[in-house]
Amino acid sequence: MKAQQIVLASRPEGLPTAAHFKQNSVELPAIQAGQFLVKNLWMSVDPYMRGRMIDRKSYIAPFVIGEALEGGAIGEVIESQHPDFPVGSKVSSMLGWRSHYISDGSDHTVLPNIPLSESHFLGVLGMPGMTAWTGLTRIAELKAGETLFVSAASGAVGSVACQLGKLMGATVVASVGSDEKAAHLNALGIDKVINYKTCDDISAALGQAAPQGIDVYFENVGGEHLTAALDNMNDHGRIAVCGMISQYNDTAPTPGPSNLANIIIKKLKIEGFIVFEHWDHYGEYAQQMGQWLATGQVQAEQTIYQGLDNAPSAFIGLFEGKNKGKMVVKLTD
Ligand code: NDP
Repeated sequence: MKAQQIVLASRPEGLPTAAHFKQNSVELPAIQAGQFLVKNLWMSVDPYMRGRMIDRKSYIAPFVIGEALEGGAIGEVIESQHPDFPVGSKVSSMLGWRSHYISDGSDHTVLPNIPLSESHFLGVLGMPGMTAWTGLTRIAELKAGETLFVSAASGAVGSVACQLGKLMGATVVASVGSDEKAAHLNALGIDKVINYKTCDDISAALGQAAPQGIDVYFENVGGEHLTAALDNMNDHGRIAVCGMISQYNDTAPTPGPSNLANIIIKKLKIEGFIVFEHWDHYGEYAQQMGQWLATGQVQAEQTIYQGLDNAPSAFIGLFEGKNKGKMVVKLTD
């Protein structure tokens, strides 16, 4: 059978465009003993994929020009000669950006049945949700009564970080790029929300939103957001550095914040992290998040693009603020 796939056509400079992606088809052979055939149902697009389009050493290997892109995906086993992956199993893999593929089971997990769409294993019950939890509990060690600031707060990681912040007893201040996103977070009970695109000065807006100061900053954006957080951090504050999406498409090095001396003056602790180094805690996270979802204490929002053809647009949309909650692509009708 033929599988459709999206390959990296060329390495982008600045914001990627459709021209950096190409769709082609590959012939898949018949499966052999110990193998199974997967039809992908859902795939994830994530900001970190932008880093993999650059040919440089990082915590994960760069994508190869002319080869299929990779990323989180949920698929269904449609043919099998593998006892652990019978036909009908729903599996998670890192083999997104393609319609079908053959596997021997390595790096595949059979998903449990949940009363929600399995796509949530790409979001709140998967890597982004686990990232929010890791940053708050294991990196910043947020405590009840503290004030938390979250940037890119209506996205996959940010929206979970905001809601977990409330569940952990914090006052939560958030930054987003539209009034609609701000209203959505307010409706979820987030205390104060800044629209960074319409405020003149993020630092001043943050100071007004959190006159008591910030104890923990969950950093997703970098640049002016980091400067604003440093201005408003309380003594012994902690910054969990998760991402810096404002810089991923930069074509020249971004100048650093001019107020780094606050790290000393305020005795701050700043720690970067990559969620996969904490994956041994996933079981604990998933069990707890499953309960929060079941009781409605956490709401899981998704933005869904339809069809493999639209996967590049969904990915580019992350840098244009097109998503509320987790951006996913539905690969079936
Ligand atoms: P999101 O779902 O948050 O999507 C990206 C969002 O970022 C957009 O919707 C947009 O929202 C906002 N954004 C885009 N460009 C800018 C900009 N220039 N300035 C400010 N905001 C911008 O993505 P994720 O939740 O998946 O990822 C959030 C961050 O977490 C990223 O930096 C990502 O790299 C990082 N990450 C890190 C991990 C780790 O292990 N360290 C794991 C997973 C994610 P808006 O409309 O509000 O601008």
